[in-house]
Amino acid sequence: MINDIPFLDLRVTNAGERQEIMEAVEKVLDHGQIVLGPEVMELEERIAAACSRKFSVGVNSGTDALYLALRALGLGQGDEVITTAFSWIATANAIRLTGATPVFADIREDLNLDPASVESLITPNTRGVLAVHYTGKICAMSELQALTERYGLWLIEDAAQAFGARLNGRPAGSFGTMGCFSMNPMKVFAALGEAGMVVTDRGDLVVRLQALRYNGTVNRETCLEPSHNGRLDTLQAAILLRRLARFKAVIEKRRELAHAYHERLAHFVRVPLEAPGEEDVYYTYTIQTDRRNELMDHLEKMRIETKIRHPILMPEQPAYCEQARGTWTRASAIIRRILCLPIHDKLTMHDIDRVSDGIRGFFARSPTS
Ligand SMILES: *Cc1c(COP(=O)(O)O)cnc(C)c1O
Repeated sequence: MINDIPFLDLRVTNAGERQEIMEAVEKVLDHGQIVLGPEVMELEERIAAACSRKFSVGVNSGTDALYLALRALGLGQGDEVITTAFSWIATANAIRLTGATPVFADIREDLNLDPASVESLITPNTRGVLAVHYTGKICAMSELQALTERYGLWLIEDAAQAFGARLNGRPAGSFGTMGCFSMNPMKVFAALGEAGMVVTDRGDLVVRLQALRYNGTVNRETCLEPSHNGRLDTLQAAILLRRLARFKAVIEKRRELAHAYHERLAHFVRVPLEAPGEEDVYYTYTIQTDRRNELMDHLEKMRIETKIRHPILMPEQPAYCEQARGTWTRASAIIRRILCLPIHDKLTMHDIDRVSDGIRGFFARSPTS
């Protein structure tokens, strides 16, 4: 079925952007430093600066950013890491792949980690907290920072969805010991392939990450510990550099679309809210309603594509459900109500009106619950 309003549209249709990307690729073809070329270093510098950090290390994906960050901290078997129950499964996998055990905490109505739930799950084996800035909204970081300091735990940010988001003026990635980003093609700051980044102020962790992203080697030859090849691709870095220059406008457009949805929908469904000091990037625009499934069908008939991100909580995935530890009552209730509306750079205000009219029509036709 062809959607009039697709959930996502990854075509590059802007002529100026297209030309910049082609030029960036040609520059790499000309200099020939295909592996860890100068664009990787330049992007690392720019991303570190954008996140108010000293350093950053380019890696192959957001999953690798998380996994290698956790490896850099020496995490392993017997260790526990507390994270949210509600995230893309890469978050839990990154913890599990180090040999450690993910412990799943509940969320608040804003879909982000509940610090009180985190505190209730701390044990002598807890090493740290992996906070996910879900939907591009930064978690309650001052509470989480205070909590982790009190218990002597580290705090890592899964900022895969949140590049460019701010809380009280501070950017995503600037709060934890390390901040981890994904620049996969679906993210707000997106490459045209897989890409990721770890930011930090600690030089010792940079050295570890640089070894871990290339088979655990130093000087590309001596292997200190087993790891895989998770380097950032130079072509992707070159494309990301061009897109970084346009990124402010990308966020502005997203926020504009989100505010337009807010104005049109706040009386009908639960819309994402920004508390004072929060500047979200709306990786997804996730509404909540008790009549989610009916609404989704209704919109589908109008050829408007929506998605449930994500329909299965991480601890309830087949890979985890038998041994998952934690608490996620509120998350279980919330995921039955969530629906993500289209939000991307090709959407016009006319599209927003069509989606909003579809939702308002649905509630006007039949009694709300
Ligand atoms: C996308 C995403 C990841 C993984 O990033 P990839 O680049 O796809 O590996 C991790 N965590 C969250 C919250 C994500 O949304």
